[in-house]
Order: sequence, then C-alpha cells, then structure tokens
Amino acid sequence: MKRFFAAIAGLSLAAMAIAQTTFLTIGTGGVTGVYYPVGGATARIVNEAGVGLRLTVESTAGSVFNISAIRDGQLDLALAQSDVTFQAFNGQAAFDGNPFEGLRPLMGLHAEPMHLVCLDGSGVNEFADIAGKRVSLGAPGSGVLFTVQAMLAAKGLSEADVSAEYLRPAEAPDFLRDGRIDCFFYTVGIGGAAIRDIMATTDAKLVPLADPEFAALIEELPYYAFATVPAGTYGARQPDPVTLFGVKALFVGSTAMPDDQAYAIVKAVLDNLAAFQAIHPALANLTAEDFLSGLGAPMHPGAERAYREAGLLQ
Ligand code: GLU
Repeated sequence: MKRFFAAIAGLSLAAMAIAQTTFLTIGTGGVTGVYYPVGGATARIVNEAGVGLRLTVESTAGSVFNISAIRDGQLDLALAQSDVTFQAFNGQAAFDGNPFEGLRPLMGLHAEPMHLVCLDGSGVNEFADIAGKRVSLGAPGSGVLFTVQAMLAAKGLSEADVSAEYLRPAEAPDFLRDGRIDCFFYTVGIGGAAIRDIMATTDAKLVPLADPEFAALIEELPYYAFATVPAGTYGARQPDPVTLFGVKALFVGSTAMPDDQAYAIVKAVLDNLAAFQAIHPALANLTAEDFLSGLGAPMHPGAERAYREAGLLQ
C-alpha cells in the first residue's frame, strides 16, 4: 500500500513538473555567427538550472527580424544589437514611426564590432574606398544593414555609392571567395566562425574602422563603441590588432514576459557565469558592467531583481 501511494505521489509530481514547464524560444542569427552558439548555450544553462523553463533556439536573419518577432509573439527572447534595440524602442530606422515600447533587455553581452572583410586585390584599405565597389551590406532582417547605413551617412556616402548586395552571413563569404563581391560587412562578436573561416581560406583582409567620423558617432550615441580585435584572432592574415567601430549584443525580451521568468533566466546565467563565459571567446572577458550598460531600452524588472540580489545593482 505504502509503495502504491509512493508511486502515485511520484507520478503526480512528474505530471506537475510537465504542467509547470514553460517553453520559450530564443531568436538568434545565422549558424556561422555568434548569436547562435550564445543562444544555444544560454538555453542549456537555463534548462539545466531546473527552474521550470525549457528554452530552445531558432536560427534567424538577425536583430531586426528578432525584435519584430518578439513584438508579434513569434519569439519570446532574442539576441539583438544595441543600436537596433535603441531604434526599435524609439521608433527609428527599421522601426521608423513604429516604436516597440514593450522591448526589455535582460542582459548586455559581448562587443559586436563591424567586420569589413575585403579581398586583398580589391583596393579597399579604408571604409571610404568601398565607393564604387561590389559590397554586401547585410541581409534583410539583419542588424548589419542598419549599422552600415549609419556608417555610410557619417562618411557622407549612401547605399547608392556602392554596387550593393544584401547577402546572408552564410553566403557572403562564398561570394567573396568566388570574386563575385569585393567586400562584405558583418556585425558580429570577435572570433565569429564566418570571419575565421574566410580569413583562413582566402586572400582577404579586415579593414580598420577607426575613422574620426566614427569617433564622432560614438560621442553622440551611447550604443556605439570601438573594439579592438587582438592580433592573430583571424590567423596569419591578421598579424596586427585592428580597431573596429561597432555595437554590442543584448539578450532581449519584452514586457509580455513575467518578471519571475526574466529573473530565473538572468539568475541562472549569473550563477553559472564561468560556464557561460566558456561558451565562446567573444564572451570570455564579460564584466558586470557589460551585463548592465548600453542596453538601448529600459531593463526588464525581473532581470533587475536578479542583478540586485547578486549585488551588481543598488
Ligand atoms: N549582429 C548580427 C545581426 O543582428 C548577428 C550576429 C550574429 O549572429 O552573431 O544581424
């Protein structure tokens, strides 16, 4: 009898656990980027924390798609660029006149410098040299294109000044290798697989992006920053450190997410920080300041609670 009751009790506990599991989807980016592995590892850490959440990842076109899909309820969470998050919250650029006021970052993450990769023989040695060249400016739905547009405007150029392509990060390197384009842009964490692979296999270079016009943009808008790619990150074809202009990656959700869910996700990451940082070299040097700053929109209150409890916020 005792055993019988124990079996029933065990069964109902298991049934309850299933009933109480909330399934959430994280939007990431292309599989050769950094969002995809970071999203996958975040999901694993949260799932293993046993907090009643089951996260899964989806490969997507990137920031603009992700934020729109959160608004439409197709995604619960996503990785997104800080500039695109700011623009979405304030109704600018891709979100012109259509602000997403419910957008709420949970965590600030890695630096996402703009990588401008060009063939050695392209004649492009600095940003302004792309005028008249065949250049991929980023795919529709990515955040890449919007960062490029701001950079073009800062230099007094426009999309019409280049022979523009809008390729996905998985296809742009192949086009470059085949000589069908001279350069491509990709806003991605340092050490992203797409850049590592093309630099390892093709006579290509990473063009420095430290122009005074970009310094002025950083002065003006807090979600931009310079980042330095350490020498050799992309192998022998990148023997020196390269300074790049760029943004940072954020982990975002919305006001549709209950506070206790956002809290549980951030707490799981903070409790497993060493495992989280080991996911990808782009995360290796994250500081408490990185989690909290440059968010582009107000932080989710559930996330705020987790940071306060961890002593990172007053
Ligand atoms: N920053 C890119 C975008 O929003 C994605 C980078 C990545 O997938 O790591 O389009």
